[in-house]
Amino acid sequence: MARFFGCGIIYLSMNRNGNGNGKGGKRMRLAQWQKAAASIFFPQRFCLNCGKLSLDQPLCPDCSGLMNALHHCPYCASFIAATETAHYLCPDCRRKAPSFIKAVAALPYENDLREVLIAFKYQQKTGYRRPLAALLLDLYERYYADIPFDAIVPVPLHSERLGERGYNQAELLSRLLAEETGIAHRPEYLMRSNDTPPLAELGRKERMKVLRGAFKAQPESAGLRILLVDDIYTTGATAERCSHALCSQKAVSVHYLAVAAGWALP
Ligand SMILES: [Zn+2]
Ligand SMILES: [Zn+2]
Repeated sequence: MARFFGCGIIYLSMNRNGNGNGKGGKRMRLAQWQKAAASIFFPQRFCLNCGKLSLDQPLCPDCSGLMNALHHCPYCASFIAATETAHYLCPDCRRKAPSFIKAVAALPYENDLREVLIAFKYQQKTGYRRPLAALLLDLYERYYADIPFDAIVPVPLHSERLGERGYNQAELLSRLLAEETGIAHRPEYLMRSNDTPPLAELGRKERMKVLRGAFKAQPESAGLRILLVDDIYTTGATAERCSHALCSQKAVSVHYLAVAAGWALP
């Protein structure tokens, strides 16, 4: 996980060793410069989930332990109670199995992580991309490291939204994950052909309806094992529509990763 944190590690080692010339003023200036540089290159110095100080890891030990202890539905990224059996399917997957093989997320969409993801998506706080991508890399290594993926594809934004926001938050994450894993990054394989009204207020059923035909996969995705990446798995409707578009172009398989997900409905 530490591979994403080169700047943070340098910052720590310079604080310990980089002030040996004995001049208090110089030490102070150097420390201020280091702090400023660290905030540019490594803006996150607190646990993403609870806000406790966490200088060189995206999560504090408690939240890292929580992440490792959480249980997913065997098919989708929805979290389920630890008291359920390993084969318990969430109600959505019981009704209809998704077209993707498996989806996983790091943590529930709550606590400080919720605010971080809102800032990352809507408030231009793109500096969060490295610690958030580190969570995805951790998940990838835990669940998917043995799968020979051919391409990493982000959930796309409609061109109008992309124009307004200036970036696709899912693509910022997928690009870093592709760099770290060496898997080809292919955002061009999946397009958003229809814009939709904001989905936040809609349930899964309505989202599935609104998103019908909203994504179009390119023929190049045929025969590929694809890892689909997004920031948040809410109802699973977006993941399912994207996966369905890729499978319609005869992708061999689709797996999915997100930073956060909701809890399965009882
Ligand atoms: Zn924490
Ligand atoms: Zn499920």
